[in-house]
Amino acid sequence: MSYIDEVIEQVIKQNPAEPEFHQAVKEVLESLRVVVDANEETFRRDALLERLVNPERQLKFRVPWVDDKGQVHVNTGYRVQFNSAIGPYKGGIRLHPSVNLGIIKFLGFEQIFKNSLTGLPIGGGKGGSDFDPKGKSDREIMAFCQSFMTELCKYIGADTDVPAGDIGTGAREIGYMFGQYKRIKGVFEGVLTGKGLSYGGSLARTEATGYGLLYITDEMLRSNGHSIKGKTVAVSGAGNVAIYAAQKAQQLGAKVVTVSDSNGWIYDPDGIDVEALKDIKEVKRLRLTEYPKYRPNAEYHEGRGVWSVKVDIALPCATQNELDLEDAKMLVANGVMAVAEGANMPTTMEATEYLQKNGVYFLPGKAANAGGVATSALEMSQNSERLSWSFEEVDSKLQGIMVNIFKNLDAAAKKYGFEGNYVVGANIAGFEKVVAAMNAQGII
Ligand code: NDP
Repeated sequence: MSYIDEVIEQVIKQNPAEPEFHQAVKEVLESLRVVVDANEETFRRDALLERLVNPERQLKFRVPWVDDKGQVHVNTGYRVQFNSAIGPYKGGIRLHPSVNLGIIKFLGFEQIFKNSLTGLPIGGGKGGSDFDPKGKSDREIMAFCQSFMTELCKYIGADTDVPAGDIGTGAREIGYMFGQYKRIKGVFEGVLTGKGLSYGGSLARTEATGYGLLYITDEMLRSNGHSIKGKTVAVSGAGNVAIYAAQKAQQLGAKVVTVSDSNGWIYDPDGIDVEALKDIKEVKRLRLTEYPKYRPNAEYHEGRGVWSVKVDIALPCATQNELDLEDAKMLVANGVMAVAEGANMPTTMEATEYLQKNGVYFLPGKAANAGGVATSALEMSQNSERLSWSFEEVDSKLQGIMVNIFKNLDAAAKKYGFEGNYVVGANIAGFEKVVAAMNAQGII
């Protein structure tokens, strides 16, 4: 059995009931075959892959909090500090009822390679809780966030582990967590990113993941003789990534015709009204059923279906495994030319293979959505300098980073004979830097 197959088997055996983690490990290791096979003897001797797939540390803790009626609830909190070879752990905090250790591990594992691809000195980590922020009052959100941070603050710090937002964790939650960290530790430091502008946040961080997704997608299209301009785009999700992906797509001259949430999806033939979307989701925190009140021409459909619309480009920006083989078949039948992942692992492995086999340009999340964490790292730099950069400065750095990521992964794919396979390119480019750092630091 090959070294890679042995390690995959071991991961499944040692981490039962963590299918998303198995999926992420398989996806990454399979695409690294060409590099691992060429170094099999030394990698095996140094147990390199075993060290890579085992987090340096994983924390699981109780998060008790009291609701507005005086009822006590107990959620589970997680922080997986996966790999610090190239810098302090960095990765978001996900608050969603579906969160479990396997989900956090899959996200943390992906984060190692994503962070490496940005070219910035940040290691991989991820955290979260099965807490559901939907329908909670501001006070309940604060109670949860304070309790969560009361435990987490023992393990994080500006030079050790710097969490950020993710699903369910936006500016409000980061604010409450930052406040509690400062109160307990007595230090004002850049321990979280995604902070408000009045207390150390970075301009353009809110927009960064969505904007970055469009910068790199445009770069991929350009390198293949096309561009975003004039294209029709399907976006899924209606959160932070989706909103700013839609906004930048429209600024670059595309027409975005869909968005979705966990209950249903919108088709707007005239192009999504991003200001209406922001008002519904960011200001009023309501459901997409409200959207047709702003845009009478738009249709609201209950359930799934966002990938059934005929578009040139699909940008899944909601959650893992939201684009499956059947969806991929519909997209291909409708002539889609590119799929770029705004979310983490939104496309199943079968769907990815089908898209690639059918000549669709496919950009994996660890490259396509790296603009968020890259800008978080820029926020860390600003905090260390005690300075704030202008929106234009951060945005132009973000553009440069996204273009570089594409160039690096494209070059890695070509170097190993996989031209046009951006999944292989991204994994190899991310892996090589982490391995070099791990080797230099000895067996730890
Ligand atoms: P938000 O919480 O702001 O938005 C998530 C969106 O996806 C919401 O519209 C939500 O709908 C929908 N969604 C969540 N879970 C499900 C589900 N199980 N089924 C269907 N729809 C769902 O999160 P973000 O926009 O921040 O994150 C979206 C994705 O992007 C995630 O995969 C995240 O890990 C990834 N990502 C985010 C980054 C960031 O900077 N924010 C950076 C890099 C990656 P509803 O409101 O109904 O739950």
